[in-house]
Order: sequence, then C-alpha cells, then structure tokens
Amino acid sequence: MTSVVTQAPERKTSQAADFDVLVIGAGFSGLYQLLCLRDRLGLSVQVLEAGAGVGGTWYWNRYPGARCDSESHSYCYSFSDELMREWEWSERYPGPAEILRYLNHVADRFDLKRDIRFNTRVSGSHYDETANLWRVSTDAGDVLTAQFLITAVGCLSSANIPNIAGLDTFEGRWYHTGQWPHEGVDFSGKRVGLIGTGSTGIQAAPVIAETAAHLTVFQRTANYSVPARNAPLTPEFRRYVKEHTGEIRRVMHSTVNGHPWPVADRLALETSPEERQALYEKAWETGGLRFRATFRDLVTDKAANDTAAAFIRNKIREIVKDPATAAKLSDFDHPYAAKRPPIDTDYFETFNRDNVALVDVRAEPIDRITPRGIRTRDVEYPLDIIVFATGFDGMTGSLLRMNIRGRDGLSLAKAWAAGPCNYLGLQVAGFPNLFMVTGPGSPSVLCNMPVAIEQHVNWITDCIAHMRMNGLKRIEPKDEAMDSWVAQVNAAANATLLPQAKHSWYLGANVPGKPRVFMPYAGGMAHYRKICADVAARNYEGFALSA
Ligand code: NAP
Repeated sequence: MTSVVTQAPERKTSQAADFDVLVIGAGFSGLYQLLCLRDRLGLSVQVLEAGAGVGGTWYWNRYPGARCDSESHSYCYSFSDELMREWEWSERYPGPAEILRYLNHVADRFDLKRDIRFNTRVSGSHYDETANLWRVSTDAGDVLTAQFLITAVGCLSSANIPNIAGLDTFEGRWYHTGQWPHEGVDFSGKRVGLIGTGSTGIQAAPVIAETAAHLTVFQRTANYSVPARNAPLTPEFRRYVKEHTGEIRRVMHSTVNGHPWPVADRLALETSPEERQALYEKAWETGGLRFRATFRDLVTDKAANDTAAAFIRNKIREIVKDPATAAKLSDFDHPYAAKRPPIDTDYFETFNRDNVALVDVRAEPIDRITPRGIRTRDVEYPLDIIVFATGFDGMTGSLLRMNIRGRDGLSLAKAWAAGPCNYLGLQVAGFPNLFMVTGPGSPSVLCNMPVAIEQHVNWITDCIAHMRMNGLKRIEPKDEAMDSWVAQVNAAANATLLPQAKHSWYLGANVPGKPRVFMPYAGGMAHYRKICADVAARNYEGFALSA
C-alpha cells in the first residue's frame, strides 16, 4: 500500500557523519520515520527524544479527561495490514494510556527503541555547508552529526503559559495540561481554577468537577462543542474493522480531513429547515467530529455555518439550566469549526453541578494571580490549584525553540519572522536537507494526524531514496516555489471561514508577538497528497537537488 521504496540499498553512512539521518521526536511521526529509513532504506538513523518513553503528544498530555477526538480505528498507522488487524482498540476514542500502549507495541514489534535516545532534548541544530552536515546539540552537551535532519516534533508540543502577573506568588499548585505530572493530580477537597475552554479545557472540566470541592472555569471565548459519545467498541465493530482494513484506509486517504467518513455531498442552504434540523439532530446523537461533515458548505459559507451555530447554541440552552450561564457559554465570536471544534463528554452538563461556576473573563478580565487565587477586575477567587488549559505555541513553537540555523548561520526564527514560509510544509530555503514532518504549510492539524504523518514520512523516505540512488547530496526548495506555496496556503485558507476566528492558534493569535499567518494548509488532505506526488513525479519540481 505504501509508496515508499521497499528494496533496501546497501547500508552505508557518510564517512564524515555519525548517522545518515537524525530524527527529532519519538511520537507517531518519529517512530514511523525511523522504521522507513532504517528498515526500508537501510540507513543509519538516530532518534532523539526529550521524554523517557515513546508517545510524543500522548507522553506529555495526560491531563484528566484527555482523549483523542479521532476515532480509534483510524487513529493508528495504516502502513501494515497485519498491524491494523492485530491491534484491538477498546473504545471509540482512545485515551493516552491506550495510545501509549499502542505506540509501545509498535516500537517493540518493529524493534525501534534501540535506535532512540530518550531523555535527550535538542538545544541547537546547525547546518555546516562545507561538510554538508547537520550538527545537532543536546542538553547533555553532546553533538551528533548527520546528512539529513528530520523534525518529528509534533504541532502542539510547546506549552503556552500566559504571562499573568503574580503567578510566581501563588501559594497553591499550578499545572499546564500539556506537561501533566505522570503520577496524576489529586483534586479531592480542592478549589480548582481552570483557565481555557479549548478542546483540552472542555475535556478536563467534567472530570475535575467530579472530585474537586469546587471548580471555577475561566472562559475567555465561548466555544462550540458536540458530544463525543464515547463508548466501548462492540465485538461486531471490531470484526468489521479487521475485515475492512483496506476499505477503511482507502476512505481515510480520499477524504478532506483524513477521517474514515466522507463529508456529505449536500448543502445546508439547499436543505429544508425541517430536514436540516433532523440531520443535525442525528449528527448530534451520533456524536464526534462527524457533525462537521453533515453539510459540505459548513466551513465555506457563513450563512450555512450560521445554521450549525444556531443548532449548537440551542442545544447549550436546553442543557444548561441557568440561563445566564447558558448565554455566556453560547456567546460565540467565530463561526463553528473555524477554530478546532472540540467534542466532549458532559461538558455543558457540568455547569449544572452545584460545585461548578463559570467566569466570563471578557466581561470580567483576569487582573492578576495572588497568593490565594485569581483576582479578576471585580472579585478574588480563592483557589488551591490552577490548571492552565491555555494551549500551545502551535506549529512553529516546537521548531523554533530548537535553535535551528541553516546556511550562513541563518536562524529559522529570522527566516520565519513574518510567518512560516516554506515549500509544501516540508522544507525551507536556506536549510538544506532539513525536512519537517507535518510542519506549518501542510494539512497536519486539519487532518486526522496519523494520515498526515504517514503521507509526509512516505514522501520524505521516497525523496531520500531518490537522492541516494542518483548520487544527490543536497535538497532545498527554490525561493519561487516557496513563494508560490505560501500564496497557495493563504488562498486555501481564504476560501474557507477558518481565518475568521480571530483568536485562533491556527493564526498564531494566542501567542503575543507571533505573526498572524494562517499556518496549516486548508486545501484538503487528498488534494495535498496529489500535489506532493505530482511534485515528486516531475523530478522534484520546485526543489534544487545537487550532487
Ligand atoms: P486552545 O485551543 O488554544 O485553547 C486554549 C484556551 O485557553 C482558549 O479557550 C483560550 O481562550 C484560553 N486562554 C489562553 N490564554 C488565556 C488567557 N491569558 N486568559 C484566559 N484564557 C486564555 O488549546 P487546547 O485546548 O489545549 O487545544 C489545542 C489543540 O490541541 C486543539 O485545538 C487540538 O488540535 C488539540 N487537542 C486535541 C484533543 C483531542 O484530540 N481530543 C484534545 C485536546 C487538544 P481564547 O479562545 O480566547 O484564546
């Protein structure tokens, strides 16, 4: 099924380098990249991983309620039919523990851990043009070299902790959800403040509320959410998955978002109000991200989108008993799905509990954190624990913090001062032989991640195989190809409603000082896959390759 070269050429490392390839990160991307390069191309590969184990996002994000919002049978590798058939997921949406078991199973099954250096954080990556090598330094003081450097660092691994005055004076405990203590946090009897109502806060609130003495949710922007309807998988469904691996993969590879269902080919505005309501009701009952696939104009036509927004607003008002709280929870400032749409388990129901309160920090801004809690303009909320569900410096943060420098010492931070310009989300001019897996400029976070990851890893593997077979030593994009791609990324975003969410991390708007540029490619995964395949077929058009 995969397009990567399967005949391993003779194993050979460049004399000057420690390895042929260094890969940073041992999550979904890094593990598969290691497997492809080592076992299919016969290259020497070392993976550097900051964590003590494999898993990437799922190694760090173990906050209460954490759960993937892709359905388990599609949130996995599809490169191996045997792997797809032998692994059994237990629930519709997998939690971190089960995903970590899965990734450890993959790492052990393919004997990957022997080439991963754990507890190793990359502190710098410099390209040496004379030697055509990347020199990668680690926080332990080591320097490793390789001809190719591949970042597999994920899109959401650099925590965004807002700079709220007084945090250092807080006498309780505080945590960011993306750096959650592996031993867990005991909320029993505690007064908890939760800042943030993105996908993470919406998952965490109901679970924290179950044990905390009191939970105060600090909401800046009201967010849409649809019930996930998580449940154990039935034996029939598991059998279906095993018997239809090829078909499931075919659908995932042909859809806009890489999910195992197509977007319905009907328009909200050409459907009668009665039928539209019935279809939304059915999607609400089915649950999950499929809700977004009810009509194909939901993310392109504001009037169509308004019908979905009104439906969800009404649902919130039906669920939440206090009308003032319901009004705050449904006071949306952006179109539905223009921000990543969360799915939840009893999020809105949580606000009916006696021990839960909502604070609208637009109306009542946070002034500072005090030794005793959070003070807004009007009130001090006494707290024992503060949970920051405040997201990430998305897409670029994890790349820029590694101090990557290309030709002539050019830093990636400088090259991207006005936004992450690149070609196909894969490479940046001035940074030869550096590849990014699911970098900005690729569909990545707008897609079911394993689908986006496998496509990138396969493409990079094929590209490196092509170079070695043709005696080519260096690849980087041409400036004009990069300019054209940036224009295509902008055009794809502007053809949708996505840039209308002014506070979205897709736009970098959640991090002060970050350039406001729509980062992921919104033209659809299947279309992007074809663009990349065509570029390769046309002898890597837009890239400069040299011997
Ligand atoms: P997020 O979507 O960026 O949400 C952060 C939240 O914190 C927002 O509500 C934001 O408000 C709020 N916030 C940030 N700074 C604040 C401040 N100074 N004061 C008050 N509120 C503040 O982050 P996230 O929820 O961690 O999700 C990030 C992404 O991770 C998701 O979009 C998704 O791609 C992924 N994710 C996936 C899953 C899953 O698969 N189930 C689960 C969790 C996360 P504003 O909206 O006003 O900025």
